[in-house]
Amino acid sequence: GQCTLVCPTGALIETPQWHEVMHTLDTHRRVSAVQVAPATRVAIGEEFGMPPGTVSTGRMINALRKLGFDYVFDTNFAADLTIMEEGTEFLTRLKSGKHLPLFTSCCPGWVNWVEINRPDLLPHLSTTKSPQQMHGALTKRGAFARSLGTDFTQGKKEPYVVSVMPCTAKKDEALRPGVSGDIDHVLTTRELARMIKARGIAFNALQEDGEFDNPLGESTGAAQIFGASGGVMEAVVRTAAHFTGQEEALPLEWHQLRGVTEGVKEADIPGIGKVAICNGIAAAQRMLLIDSWREEYVAIEVMACVGGCLGGGGEPKSMDPKVLQKRMQAIYAIDRNTPRRRSYENRDIQTLYAVELEKPNSHRAHELLHTSYAARHSKRLLLMRFLDCVDRRDA
Ligand code: SF4
Repeated sequence: GQCTLVCPTGALIETPQWHEVMHTLDTHRRVSAVQVAPATRVAIGEEFGMPPGTVSTGRMINALRKLGFDYVFDTNFAADLTIMEEGTEFLTRLKSGKHLPLFTSCCPGWVNWVEINRPDLLPHLSTTKSPQQMHGALTKRGAFARSLGTDFTQGKKEPYVVSVMPCTAKKDEALRPGVSGDIDHVLTTRELARMIKARGIAFNALQEDGEFDNPLGESTGAAQIFGASGGVMEAVVRTAAHFTGQEEALPLEWHQLRGVTEGVKEADIPGIGKVAICNGIAAAQRMLLIDSWREEYVAIEVMACVGGCLGGGGEPKSMDPKVLQKRMQAIYAIDRNTPRRRSYENRDIQTLYAVELEKPNSHRAHELLHTSYAARHSKRLLLMRFLDCVDRRDA
């Protein structure tokens, strides 16, 4: 029978989909493309007995090609794009003073929580789609992706698009109204490991030399750090410093925003304002209890999982108490060793704006790369409200 896996944030029960993905790849009626999130490459090795923090990017790419994917892309390309769009949105809000602080929106566990529990906060959420959804939209519908060549879709309207995520809630995100259709199937890191094992691929024996396909594969160090709590905000600050002419004056690395154990982290960014990181949904819930966050911060990152995506519900389970630290160190090591470390320096992103999107937050960018949110009422919440009413009536 089918097993289910539980997301630690309570966002979703995971339904494995890897059998369907294998079937589609085997029948091979459409060109297939896969994108992989940053937290997967520093954790998948653990499923094959490697120590936590082993970086397996090249080996993982080779495994995906052996599984039959025609194109292997990097979600990080879209993480850089998220920063361009969200950074611009942030600076526009700073100028107008409206809907501040801005809350990040790339974690579906957090977005779901706001829609269900605090719909009053919806105007604060960035409208920028998550990297997974941006990458899917570009691969399916973007002119830039079609520039890969006529073979990319082989006469079919769109390719078959799969994503590999550290996250069970990303399966739910792919079905959200407004973005549904950008991604065909979402696999967790663990599901990918199962596919590799089921196909008898000797992961440990693969070479570490695999490379992502381009042009949806290039990324900067800023995109790599999306996988760790505080990474999205640090990436935003790096690019905002450039947009506000402070690149020379401000540091590239913001160590106050890093770490997997602290609840709320903060930094005062000269010329921009104070920013905060909520490391885990409980930290956000605590922060929201006291209204001072409205005045104190200009931007707040929330990741539902402690540690960020590297602690996601789709990552390998580990008995090592330092597993999150080790994965985090691996992520920052990739950042340090990447030649370009600010999102706007991504040359393919520059080309994408030149050939298709014009500029960040343009009309076309909004069409492909932004989304909207709506209040949702959970049955549990409605029941609680009903019982509350009955209580009061009886009192
Ligand atoms: Fe998913 Fe990352 Fe959010 Fe966890 S923090 S729910 S892994 S997007």
